[in-house]
Amino acid sequence: MSAHSSENGGGNGLAQQGGNPLPEGARKKWRAGVLGATGLVGQRLVKLLAGHPWFELTEVAASERSSGRSYGEAVRWHLDGPIPEAARSLVVKSLDPSLDCDFVFSALDSSVAGGAEEDFARAGYPVVSNSKNHRMDPDVPLLIPEVNASHLDAIPAQQKNRGYHGGFIVTNPNCSTAGLVLVLKPLADAFGLEKVFAVTLQAVSGAGYPGVASMDIHANVIPFISGEEEKMESEPQKLLGKWDGGRFIDAGLGLSAHCNRVPVLEGHLECISVSLKKIACLKEVREALRNFEISAELRSLPSAIRHPVVVLDGQDRPQPRRDVHAGNGMAAVVGRLRECPLLDIKLTLLSHNLVRGAAGAALLNAELLAARGLLNHRVQAQGEKQLSEPLTRLTS
Ligand code: NAP
Repeated sequence: MSAHSSENGGGNGLAQQGGNPLPEGARKKWRAGVLGATGLVGQRLVKLLAGHPWFELTEVAASERSSGRSYGEAVRWHLDGPIPEAARSLVVKSLDPSLDCDFVFSALDSSVAGGAEEDFARAGYPVVSNSKNHRMDPDVPLLIPEVNASHLDAIPAQQKNRGYHGGFIVTNPNCSTAGLVLVLKPLADAFGLEKVFAVTLQAVSGAGYPGVASMDIHANVIPFISGEEEKMESEPQKLLGKWDGGRFIDAGLGLSAHCNRVPVLEGHLECISVSLKKIACLKEVREALRNFEISAELRSLPSAIRHPVVVLDGQDRPQPRRDVHAGNGMAAVVGRLRECPLLDIKLTLLSHNLVRGAAGAALLNAELLAARGLLNHRVQAQGEKQLSEPLTRLTS
């Protein structure tokens, strides 16, 4: 099978959005704001939101360097194709939590994301974040819809703990964790997991723009990415663990990661070895990965793909340049599945750091929130800051 066939479910996928009707009970599209809209992840979000069947982009915000200018003037556009028309003339705002939108995506630099996301949540906005700041908070869902949609049940506890009315924070994992955990999930379900050993080869775009200096990365490999190994060793524990109604219980995995920056533009490659709780042959492992399929609930989401793990048979795949766009950038692509002399099995996996690992992940998270009735249309009261319609699902 080609890594580029997207095998979409009910959703039309990121590249072909447009056909998914609004969720039952929704009257109109939700208005989205993007915080950090001028950055690499923010630009992806702006592009993915153009023509989205459920969301429309109404606000963009960034630093003092950009605010007050039109988005078209402020942004240094890095993506193929023009800046979407709907975004070009929007005025870039500051991080004041009074934007004209129903919810916000946060693609902010981590130096400001923590406080800004809390400010927006406190002001009543659902915040769908890419940043690391709140991922491991004990009351914040760290979400991959295909893996742990039930962790959204933590939102009412978060609102109660923090005194948020209507607002909340949901995060997506670090870019290298996203692909890893998508591949681990079907293995955990079928065989149980004991230990995972991972070595990453991560693209330069994972460091934002301008990222690593060209003189450091050209014809070179840098065997250090600050904080990355810690994230890869902690986030999967939460993602593959459980929300027990009061707290998140870790998966209790043995995990070790080595992270390297390589001169690749997009796509993080990972070589992993895994020990399983139940003995399995390679054929069974391959089948578990190939048969991994999303739930009926997720099939209605516009950005969901039916089989989020794509297994390739070619002995020299996956490769970033050839396979990074598999499933419209939302798939984890697996190849080189074989026995491991130290642990049980080993394989190579690839995922798009800016799509599956960032903007596409956040979009899918927001779509799940919408489908579950967790996004509301904020109404503007005269002379007051924006108010939310009551959160029927959360309070019932
Ligand atoms: P980036 O290209 O450096 O963009 C950062 C954004 O934050 C820009 O819009 C920038 O606005 C804004 N910003 C910076 N300082 C600010 C301030 N003081 N006040 C308000 N806005 C400020 O970074 P990125 O790669 O898009 O990453 C964005 C977030 O996603 C980060 O937290 C990152 O860790 C996370 N993430 C990135 C990836 C990836 O593959 N790149 C993957 C997963 C998660 P100006 O343009 O106005 O400076």
